[in-house]
Amino acid sequence: MIDYHLHVIAHGDRPMTVDNILAYLEVAKSRGLRQMGITEHDRYLDDIDLAAFQEAREKYQDVELRLGIEIDFVPGAEERMDRDASALPYDYVIGSVHRVNNEEVDHPQHQEIYEKWETYDLYEAYYKNVREAALSGRFEVLGHPDLIKIFRHFPDQDITPMLEETADVVAESGVVVDVNSAGLRKPIGEIYPSRDLLEMFHRRDVPIVLSSDAHAPDQVAMGYEKSLKLVHDVGYREVVTFKDRERGTLPLRPE
Ligand SMILES: [Zn+2]
Ligand SMILES: [Zn+2]
Repeated sequence: MIDYHLHVIAHGDRPMTVDNILAYLEVAKSRGLRQMGITEHDRYLDDIDLAAFQEAREKYQDVELRLGIEIDFVPGAEERMDRDASALPYDYVIGSVHRVNNEEVDHPQHQEIYEKWETYDLYEAYYKNVREAALSGRFEVLGHPDLIKIFRHFPDQDITPMLEETADVVAESGVVVDVNSAGLRKPIGEIYPSRDLLEMFHRRDVPIVLSSDAHAPDQVAMGYEKSLKLVHDVGYREVVTFKDRERGTLPLRPE
């Protein structure tokens, strides 16, 4: 299995040293992972130590190490996104929507945006950004595609048409969806994307990667019993892998 979205530097919690990377790889190995991809937030780009990454990759043969980056998708910041997405020899690039009108939707201490907006309108604006991110052509992977549910603010109206439209655009864009277990550690207590949205993706043959969005070693592959059951129940039988921006696949269960 793979864990393709996680953070060693996290939010400036620790430097990217060989030892710190090895601590993540040890957990990855113990949880049966074949590949692990480090994808720091792009605002920590300057703290990524490529030499340490490469040394850890050579040293540790039991789990293959990949390098990605998680770009914060903000319309209007194309220059920054293009620069960050091509700064290092990544295996793949994740694009994630964390903001509406440049304001964070997932900050535990700053949830004012949910007071300011009518929830349905906020969802509309959020999924518009998700569709733009997918269509931008900048990213191989779309990070946690329904992050907006994180604090359990739900519109009264039915959002099925909004999700269907988003799934159409994601399928058309060719981007791979991140099935991200971090939601299990948040107030929503559920994987990103929801089963409904994942079924919409599956019906449109949208491929997936699996991830934990770990911000500490013990979170690597956390919640994978639930992720694996979800994707299998929905009908997925393989995950996508990347090396040097080239796509491969791995079976979800060894046959
Ligand atoms: Zn994110
Ligand atoms: Zn992340």
